[in-house]
Amino acid sequence: MYSQESISGRRRGRTEPTAEMLSGLACLICGTDYRSAPAPEAVVVSHRDDRRLLACHGTCARMASGSVNGLDETPLPLAERVRRHQADHS
Ligand SMILES: [Zn+2]
Repeated sequence: MYSQESISGRRRGRTEPTAEMLSGLACLICGTDYRSAPAPEAVVVSHRDDRRLLACHGTCARMASGSVNGLDETPLPLAERVRRHQADHS
C-alpha cells in the first residue's frame, strides 16, 4: 500500500511568487517593492505565462537569470505595471 498524499509537484524551499512579483512590482528574489522609494533599478529576469518577472539589477538579477543585467528586455514603466496590477486585483 502506498500513500501518495505527501507527493506534490511543489519543491520544498521554493516559494511561489507573490501577486506583486507576478505584476513586476516587487523583486522576485528579495521582495523589494519597487513602488517604494528609493527602489533599485529593476530588470527583466524571467517570464511566467505572459508576464515578465523582475529582479533588482545586480545580485538579485544574477540569482534569478544568471546575469546581473537579466534578460535583454526592457520592463514596462512602473506606472504601467501598477495600473495592470490594479486592474488584475480590483
Ligand atoms: Zn532584489
